[in-house]
Amino acid sequence: MPAFLVTNDDGVKSPALRALVRELQAIPGANTYVVAPDREWSARGHAITIREPVYADRLDDAEFDCAAWAVSGTPADCVKLGLNELAPESIQMVVSGINLGYNLATDVLYSGTVAAAIEAVLAGKPAMAVSSGRTDGEEGDYRLPARVARTLTSLAAHIPHNPWLLNVNVPDRSAGDIHGVAFTELGGCPYEDRVVVGVDEEGRRCYHLAVDIAPDTEEHGTDLAAVRSGKVSITPLEVLRLTRSDLLEYLLPLATRIERMLQDALREPH
Ligand code: MN
Repeated sequence: MPAFLVTNDDGVKSPALRALVRELQAIPGANTYVVAPDREWSARGHAITIREPVYADRLDDAEFDCAAWAVSGTPADCVKLGLNELAPESIQMVVSGINLGYNLATDVLYSGTVAAAIEAVLAGKPAMAVSSGRTDGEEGDYRLPARVARTLTSLAAHIPHNPWLLNVNVPDRSAGDIHGVAFTELGGCPYEDRVVVGVDEEGRRCYHLAVDIAPDTEEHGTDLAAVRSGKVSITPLEVLRLTRSDLLEYLLPLATRIERMLQDALREPH
């Protein structure tokens, strides 16, 4: 009996979240619990709420056909709440999505969708972050990426390495146009920053943070290249080992020298 915790960063009203829950509920014997933010948190990363209370409103069963809560906090808050308080049974897997828009390459550093999956791994649970290239909001049909997510949950049950995180991106194409699956690495930064200067209604100078697509960032074997060629991209992400070991090895022999410099600096009169 698999039990899934489902969240997202587009908010509990996202049609793509609904499509995902419908597919997961169709797995025989599956129990799905929805704990999702009551508003959008896209591109706000791994924020958590610790200085104020978080509220969780139980939604009518008719909304999702399973237990569901709308939470006043972030996607990561939702995972903490879902795993530790709201879900009445042990969760096998956290599924975050389906995001309205890709989370490719360096997007994963900003994505609330991926942050929720990372939070799951921190709590010792395997997780999938699933994103779709489709972004037509309320009008969109998200059955295809939802079907992909459902299929991958059965594959994922066999992965022995725990806890793991799969970042999944589904091209915005019809089923017949999907050219298979690619296991990929994250691409390099595909953007160039641009700041657009404007003036608000009160005449105050303001800035819009924009990005342009940079040329030549689509290396072979990356998630960027996979979705471009019409494939479902699956990237296993590292969460816990962020230490840069080559730099650590370079720094270690310098420790004595740095320590001496530090002692001299601390002895200097203020
Ligand atoms: Mn989003």
